[in-house]
Amino acid sequence: MYDKTSMRADDFINHEEITDTLAYADAHREDRVLIREIIEKAKERKGLDHREASVLLACEDKEIESELFHLAEEIKQDYYGNRIVLFAPLYLSNYCINGCLYCPYHGKNKNIRRVKLTQEQIREEVIALQDMGHKRLAIEAGEHPEMNPIEYILESIDTIYNIHHKNGSIRRINVNIAATTVENYRKLKEAEIGTYILFQETYHKQSYLSLHPTGPKHDYDYHTEAMDRAMEGGIDDVGLGVLYGLELYRYEFAGVLMHAEHLEAVHGVGPHTISVPRVKPADDIDPEEFNGGISDETFAKLCALIRIAVPYTGMIISTRESQKVREMVLPLGVSQISGGSRTSVGGYAEEERPEENSAQFDVSDRRTLDEVVNWLMRLGYIPSFCTACYRAGRVGDRFMELCKSMQILNCCHPNALLTLQEYLEDYASEDTRRIGRDMIQKELGVIPNEKVRKKTVDYLKAITNGERDFRF
Ligand code: SAM
Repeated sequence: MYDKTSMRADDFINHEEITDTLAYADAHREDRVLIREIIEKAKERKGLDHREASVLLACEDKEIESELFHLAEEIKQDYYGNRIVLFAPLYLSNYCINGCLYCPYHGKNKNIRRVKLTQEQIREEVIALQDMGHKRLAIEAGEHPEMNPIEYILESIDTIYNIHHKNGSIRRINVNIAATTVENYRKLKEAEIGTYILFQETYHKQSYLSLHPTGPKHDYDYHTEAMDRAMEGGIDDVGLGVLYGLELYRYEFAGVLMHAEHLEAVHGVGPHTISVPRVKPADDIDPEEFNGGISDETFAKLCALIRIAVPYTGMIISTRESQKVREMVLPLGVSQISGGSRTSVGGYAEEERPEENSAQFDVSDRRTLDEVVNWLMRLGYIPSFCTACYRAGRVGDRFMELCKSMQILNCCHPNALLTLQEYLEDYASEDTRRIGRDMIQKELGVIPNEKVRKKTVDYLKAITNGERDFRF
């Protein structure tokens, strides 16, 4: 039975509730009165529930769709301004005992080179990432209790936080590893991770079971209830995601919103982020084999509706998507993107060797971080390397409060400018530096509080004079 406060996966991601929701959405896709009511509610910028949002997703009226895109842009502007936070994935190990049909790391794949980084190799990777200008990483690993136990992950986190090369440092490590125990989540919390990210892949239980035929990940309930265990273990921020392309997107959309509603109902705080990966070609993987592929247009509509339905939740788009697609969805609500990414283990420090592929999927956006930063600014976005919220205790519900009260302009905006300044001074090309300095001057005027603005100017000067002991 559907119950968002239940701790059982089958109750809070209830299959009947999703199929009823989809039937309801189909029945009302042309119901102008209801659709108007839902849009008026969405304009209050407090979000929509999975049923309301599903009706909007089902509606194919072009005029309504363009109104929705417009609203998503406005909401994004209100809550996130023009800042885009940058990060990079760091693959630690591709040893894996699962049998996920869409992932080249699956245990039976004999083609890919299996690699587990030593702590020394992690150092080399992190130095290469710091030299690009990255401050925020998402570490990734396959599931392998012997090769990648929690102790290895914890040791790697400690290694990464302790590397200070030139002016570089990694200030926030988000973690994307397989579902684990409350005890292990507690250890991750003690290791001071940022967001714990785990993609559901699909909320459709039957599909999930057949897409994960072997290995611990086969356990749908254990996987789906992972975020509750993470929060029980003290982790403040969790990141949800569906791997679009595996199942019907309308089912997944209702599922991810129900998951967000469950977290909010039980823990008082929804997901910190939602990622929107689409399944990509990879060694031994052909995305055409799955039945849920979606067009770029549908993908854009999904992103817009996620922004409208959960305004306070950050949205992440990776280099799985091309420059063109990223450009299309950035204004619709994306708040974080990866840049300069390598999805192979050891791919930052060593040149990629196609004949010895260890990559997880093909990267579509292959530009360098400097090119991405330059491109963002030319589009009018402020690339932000800020990681301050986590250290300042603005996590979980406290972050949500800040976001809900729209105080973020006095807080995130200055931090974005300061971390951009650091990037410009330390890592940017001539052209990027020139565009960046102009942008910073212009954007200072957007900070509402005068005291904060003055302080920001002082800090900017200090950074230009070589001071680097700020911790944004
Ligand atoms: N092993 C961990 C787990 O089970 O959650 C870590 C996840 S893996 C390193 C990161 C994510 O990449 C997966 O959750 C999956 O959604 C995504 N992924 C796997 N194969 C992919 C493919 N062929 N195309 C795009 N994304 C893929």
